[in-house]
Amino acid sequence: MQQLPGNLFVVAAPSGAGKSSLVKALRSFDARVYPSVSHTTRAPRGQEKHGREYFFASEAEFDAMVANNAFIEWANVHNKRYGTSKKGIQERLANGDDVLLEIDYQGALQVRDAFPQAVLIFILPPSWEELRSRLENRGEDAPEVIELRMKNASTEMAQVKEFDFVIINELFESALFDLKTIIHAHRLKYTSQRRLRSDVFTSLHLPV
Ligand code: 5GP
Repeated sequence: MQQLPGNLFVVAAPSGAGKSSLVKALRSFDARVYPSVSHTTRAPRGQEKHGREYFFASEAEFDAMVANNAFIEWANVHNKRYGTSKKGIQERLANGDDVLLEIDYQGALQVRDAFPQAVLIFILPPSWEELRSRLENRGEDAPEVIELRMKNASTEMAQVKEFDFVIINELFESALFDLKTIIHAHRLKYTSQRRLRSDVFTSLHLPV
C-alpha cells in the first residue's frame, strides 16, 4: 500500500490484557481515530450487530473476499476467520483520518508487511497471575477455555518483540494515557503537522 496521509494504528494483545476496554475508552475521548470494522466467519454474540462490531460473513463470502484480494490481512483466530478489508481503511487514510485496528498478532504482522508505516502497539498484562485472575473474574469462560486462553497467550506474547510500542496494562488509567500519548506523538510528526496545520505552515511561508 502506498504512503497515505492518515496514521494507521494496530493494537494487539492476548485475551484478558484489556485491549477492548482500552480502545473503547480511547474512542470516547478521541473521535478522530476510526476503528475498523472487521469481517468474521464467527456468529454474532449477544447484542452484536452486523456492520457495527463486525461484518458477519459466511465461509463462502469470506473465501470470495480472500480470492478477490479484498483483505489487507486475515487470520484464523480460535478456529474462525477474521479479516480487515482494504477498502474501508484505504479511503479513510487517503482522507487523512487515523484508523485503529484491533486485531490479533498474526494480522498485525501482515499489516506491517503491507503497510510499513503502520504503528504496531502490543498490550501486555502485568503478570501471569494477573492475566489469569482477569480471565477468571470476567466470568465468561469455562475453566478449560481459560486454560486454552492462557496457553495461547504464551504464543501471542512471544511476538511482542515485533511491535513498535508496548503498553503494560497494570493500571487502566495509566495504560490509557500511554495509548493516547502514542497516538498524539504520531500526530505531531512533520508530515501530519504540515497537513493538519497547513494554515500555520502557509503563514510562515513553509512548503505545504
Ligand atoms: P472476538 O471473536 O472475541 O471478537 O475476537 C477474537 C480475536 O480476533 C481478538 O483477538 C480480535 O482482536 C481478533 N480479531 C478481530 N478482528 C480481526 C481481524 O480483522 N483480523 C485479525 N487478524 N484478528 C481479528
